[in-house]
Amino acid sequence: MTTGTATRLAGPPAAEAVIATASAQAAGLPTPPHLVIVRVGDDPASVSYVRGKAKKAGEAGLRSTVHALPEATPQADLLALVATLNADPDVHGILVQLPLPAHIAEEPVLEAIDPDKDVDGLHPVNVGRLWSGRPALAPCTPAGIMAMLAHYGVAVAGRRVVIVGRSRLVGRPLAGLMLAADATVTVAHSRTRDLAAITRSADILVAAVGRAHLITPDMVAPGAVVIDVGINRVVGEDGKSHLTGDVHPHVAAVASALTPVPGGVGPMTVAQLMANTVQAAERQRSGALGE
Ligand code: NDP
Repeated sequence: MTTGTATRLAGPPAAEAVIATASAQAAGLPTPPHLVIVRVGDDPASVSYVRGKAKKAGEAGLRSTVHALPEATPQADLLALVATLNADPDVHGILVQLPLPAHIAEEPVLEAIDPDKDVDGLHPVNVGRLWSGRPALAPCTPAGIMAMLAHYGVAVAGRRVVIVGRSRLVGRPLAGLMLAADATVTVAHSRTRDLAAITRSADILVAAVGRAHLITPDMVAPGAVVIDVGINRVVGEDGKSHLTGDVHPHVAAVASALTPVPGGVGPMTVAQLMANTVQAAERQRSGALGE
């Protein structure tokens, strides 16, 4: 919930716009792009995320296949499946849902995915492409944030962007995308000294930490655009558990625009997965990725 004067940057309309563009591009391809999602085990959150992604793919006019493997699947079997999917020209996007069970090492699996089918953008080749300013499949949450800013007409070029959080899923790739979009970028993290002084310098402040209400009004410059990526489960005064972001609701009285949690960045992530899958299919067809 937000209070105050900041414009609410709602996720769903921006996500729908991303999906509409992806659907239109998909319709122009000889066959609908095919997204394959691999899930290992029955982690309830992963089951729910994968179901949501497959459903959205169908709505966007994409094909999707889910491989649900048992928890005890050996790493070698998972790698063999990835190799089969890499070799299949009818598969355009491959997503291995994280986290994997503890007996499977994440890195070799992510690195086994064909970079041109790596719709999660976590393969080191895509990370390298992103940071060297070349076309890349970028992780869905940061790419979704860029799409959201574009949707709401928030200019990035020349602005001071502060990102709190340096994970490989959100903070780091977002820094690369912001740099590519000509922002001046600062990345802060748990060892940053005087965080408030740095966040106050931001025209666009992104909180991707996972600490409820870490960003308080005194940490935000008047008129800044604030993007709240955090998803934190907290128990409210009513004794019920609910979701809240990394940004304190009173920031709405200082910021010019603010994304809500839930209903802000979250919907952009799944929408961007569809856009990435279409991009992967287009690039595989033209052989252009990375060129
Ligand atoms: P990680 O835990 O991987 O990274 C958190 C980052 O925050 C780290 O870089 C850490 O620093 C930094 N950090 C921790 N405490 C502080 C602090 N007190 N001050 C400054 N920096 C701090 O999280 P993720 O990036 O994966 O996710 C961040 C949040 O975004 C989570 O709430 C997650 O649920 C949410 N999320 C939401 C998505 C969506 O679709 N809306 C998608 C992905 C994530 P250090 O590196 O030094 O440890």
